[in-house]
Amino acid sequence: MSAEVSSVDLTISFVIAVALYAVTYLSFVRLLRYPRNWRSPTLPMSLTTAGLVTITVSYVSVSRDGLDPAALAVTAGFIAVLFGIIAAPAIDFPSGARPVVEFLANHGDYAGLWMLAPAIAAAYAVPSVKLQGVLTAAMAIELAWFLRHRPNDRRRLYPIGGHDLSVLKAQAKGDLEGFARQHGIHELVLSDGAVYWRGCGKETLPCPFNFYVNRLGLNTAPCCREHMAELCHYVASRLRDMGVVHWLEGGNLLGAVRENGRLIAWEDDIDLSVVLDSGKTFNALATGLAECCAREGYYLDVFKNKGFISISYDPPQVWPFCWERNRMRGEIRLDLAFYRHFVSNDRPVLERNIRKGAMPSTESGGYGVPREIVLPTSTIEFLGDNIACPNQPEEYLRLLYGDFDEVVYTYVDAAAAKNRRPADTAVKRSHSLPARQ
Ligand SMILES: [Zn+2]
Repeated sequence: MSAEVSSVDLTISFVIAVALYAVTYLSFVRLLRYPRNWRSPTLPMSLTTAGLVTITVSYVSVSRDGLDPAALAVTAGFIAVLFGIIAAPAIDFPSGARPVVEFLANHGDYAGLWMLAPAIAAAYAVPSVKLQGVLTAAMAIELAWFLRHRPNDRRRLYPIGGHDLSVLKAQAKGDLEGFARQHGIHELVLSDGAVYWRGCGKETLPCPFNFYVNRLGLNTAPCCREHMAELCHYVASRLRDMGVVHWLEGGNLLGAVRENGRLIAWEDDIDLSVVLDSGKTFNALATGLAECCAREGYYLDVFKNKGFISISYDPPQVWPFCWERNRMRGEIRLDLAFYRHFVSNDRPVLERNIRKGAMPSTESGGYGVPREIVLPTSTIEFLGDNIACPNQPEEYLRLLYGDFDEVVYTYVDAAAAKNRRPADTAVKRSHSLPARQ
């Protein structure tokens, strides 16, 4: 009888440990939303995660007999290392981090499984059913994350040629194979002298193209360009349907004007802006867009305090597993910035919270553009379709970027920018990117 009770007790302990790890993990990946959006985590959410880690570690290492130092060290050490691996893509996302973080981020879709051998060793070294529960849960989650994104047959091959190839060769200094190996560019396929890109899609992790574009100085991958175009026109058409005044913003507008309706070669997102007129609120628009995006399979995130909404190409997952997307390295996304009507220095302006380019500041601490430059909006061709743009697009660009004919490698690492300049100059001199009159 007592043996039976004890086995029930052990099962309960195991299940509680599994549940504690799962909740702690979800809280942690939820927290990663902040670094991957260039923000610091909030105190309540950091404390919640820290509290859950403490509870999990205590549950494993404290029993009626007191504290088990070996169980404490193993559990805390295991969770610390695994969470470091899980966080690497999000930490590496905003700012070039240390080589070890970059290495882990490059292998983020399966690096968690490297902890399998230490997990087995730990389970033998410290015979505790609670520890086994934590290790089992952790490895099961890592295996599920790996399997969800693994199959490569979902990736379509895109030939790489022209300007994309010359930039790639310039950055690789001719050694494409060595360059791909050095930086973990799994998408690059070299076959019989031809170069292909294993494209991303809804079923795969997005190409980590912030890394490829901003750090390695490559062109945006053809798959990502395709998805950005789809996302851009999808959101613009929803805004049109809702009767919301919107326009193409920043670097995308620059591409439309300067690069004849194309994306800038190293573009890393889509930017649209809207102005809230009477009767339309941020919340109403966010709710309307959230419904469309859920239906059509786009992920939507609202940053109300900052005054923007981001819509990403990857499909929304069921709560709470939607937080796991913070493990992705980069994403294909559209940022929707909100403007409001305002009067600055006795002039009607459209004002926003976050600075864009050299946009002048207003008395209220925001940033504003003269209203007549933007409204009523006009249209411009962009990525194969017409889209709303400011009334005076060139004036708008001049306000943001000054002399916008001059190529500026915004966000691209200085050394990478230097390497690619000859390839960009060559293409500009030929027919593809004619200098504007
Ligand atoms: Zn891609």
